Amino acid sequence: MAHIVIIGAGLGGMPMAYEMQEQLRQGDRLTVVGSGPNFHFVPSNPWVAVRWRKREEIEFPAATYLGKKGIAFNGSGAKRVHPEKNQVELGDGAVLDYDYLVIATGPKLAFDEIEGFGPEGHTQSVCHVDHAERAALAWDAFVKEPGPIVVGAVQGASCFGPAYEFAFIMETDLRRRKLRDRVPMTFVTSEPYIGHLGLGGVGDSKSMLESAMRDKHIKWICNAKVTRIEAGTMHVTEHDEEGKPKKEHALPFRYSMMLPAFKGIDAVFGIEGLPTRAGSS
Ligand SMILES: Cc1cc2nc3c(=O)[nH]c(=O)nc-3n(C[C@H](O)[C@H](O)[C@H](O)COP(=O)(O)OP(=O)(O)OC[C@H]3O[C@@H](n4cnc5c(N)ncnc54)[C@H](O)[C@@H]3O)c2cc1C
Repeated sequence: MAHIVIIGAGLGGMPMAYEMQEQLRQGDRLTVVGSGPNFHFVPSNPWVAVRWRKREEIEFPAATYLGKKGIAFNGSGAKRVHPEKNQVELGDGAVLDYDYLVIATGPKLAFDEIEGFGPEGHTQSVCHVDHAERAALAWDAFVKEPGPIVVGAVQGASCFGPAYEFAFIMETDLRRRKLRDRVPMTFVTSEPYIGHLGLGGVGDSKSMLESAMRDKHIKWICNAKVTRIEAGTMHVTEHDEEGKPKKEHALPFRYSMMLPAFKGIDAVFGIEGLPTRAGSS
């Protein structure tokens, strides 16, 4: 009889657990390993960041719901996967033996690739609910003393949709607060054009998003590489279509949210044959 282990109690891991539970044979066991006790619904993070939602409205305790289905849960996180031994080392020191392993951890956020980048630096993030809560505190301070916003996605990012979404959310929130005229907004992206989305565009996304951004007075810089971020200034090199540097920008901001590149989580990074070159599973 088999022990199936799923690492990650997020948008991939939780449905996987429910689906897998239906496939179990008599005597099979299923364990989900999360990092922390809760499932949280990542796509609602941007709303937490402007206080349109509270944290408790977008998360719930994973063990309670998995337990109802007879699925075991450990929230101490996977520290390292040892595929040669079919084992996962956990954050609480325990070791789980598995017959089948599902890796559904989402990415490691590569803030460390750019000086001054991320919640430990000078920009906000909506990739995790913890970040979104911090971003909400920064938003509270920002709306008391508004100024320029820089929003977008840095080089190496593969998920661009939330950057556009958050730009329009902030724009709407500022209009509701009657502050929009005091906030110049610039969208900075490594995409070759607005609406590329890392996918070469989706339908008419180029013209639709360009039009919406013009309509909302959001300027943009594409083919951008963020080279350094200091308090209140983002340094950006804009490239031409051949990838050659075209223009240097020093963009002032009072609030910034930039999506990072994604890497593989530490528990699987560097394992021969398992992750891709970027270390993602
Ligand atoms: C701001 C934002 C908005 C988005 N909006 C949309 C949208 O509107 N529509 C859409 O389709 N997609 C959206 N996406 C994309 C979508 O959220 C992701 O594709 C999806 O969450 C990926 O699911 P996942 O299970 O791989 O990762 P996640 O949902 O991030 O879950 C991974 C889980 O694994 C946990 N974990 C990490 N490391 C470990 C470890 N070592 N051990 C144990 N657990 C670990 C994490 O804490 C997390 O709970 C959005 C993404 C973001 C960032």
